[in-house]
Amino acid sequence: MTRLLPPGKLVIATHNAGKLREIRALLAPFGMECLSAGELGLPEPAETGTTFAENALIKAHASASASGLPALADDSGLCVSALGGAPGVYTADWAEAAPFEGGPGRDWYMAMGKVEGKLAELGPDTPRDCWFACVLALAWPDGRAMVFEGRAPGTLTWPPRGTLGFGYDPVFVPTGDTRTFAELDPAEKHRISHRADAFSKLVSEALTD
Ligand code: IMP
Repeated sequence: MTRLLPPGKLVIATHNAGKLREIRALLAPFGMECLSAGELGLPEPAETGTTFAENALIKAHASASASGLPALADDSGLCVSALGGAPGVYTADWAEAAPFEGGPGRDWYMAMGKVEGKLAELGPDTPRDCWFACVLALAWPDGRAMVFEGRAPGTLTWPPRGTLGFGYDPVFVPTGDTRTFAELDPAEKHRISHRADAFSKLVSEALTD
């Protein structure tokens, strides 16, 4: 049987440099030539879905139809059990800060502090377990699509630790370790992350002969 996604060009439907770096590294062994939606100047669609899968599909379909190439999108976020799964699909929105001249519009330290503040409001005995979720959507220009879901369980620590990774990595301690994702070298994070979990499903269903 030939694999569903043969070696060749693949658009990575993201404008997020951190995600792009991780997805490129994960796809490197499969002969895919990854082009990012940002580099191709493709429009960034509004993420109007209420689930990770809906948002990933919106991004993958938009890039596939605009480029005429297969496209892969990732929608991911941090879900905190004691906050009913929040920030969830709104993870990036919680980092939205007023842009200042010459600076980024997102403030991850503030976002991590917001999560910590909400846990503190619930009291000192509040459980700190959480998980990172990742849904990958693969779409073709003819409208076909597939989704793959991954998770990494862990707990939240405070204050943030480590300088590697991106986003909420400095407060996330994966189950079975004492270091945060931002203290792991990228290869170690790639072995256990939510993105790696979703990727292993993508590999077995679309990148294996
Ligand atoms: P979106 O999928 O672009 O809507 O954004 C999800 C947000 O979740 C990202 O901007 C990150 O801040 C956060 N996130 C997703 N995956 C990771 C990860 O591996 N480490 C840290 N933060 C992450």
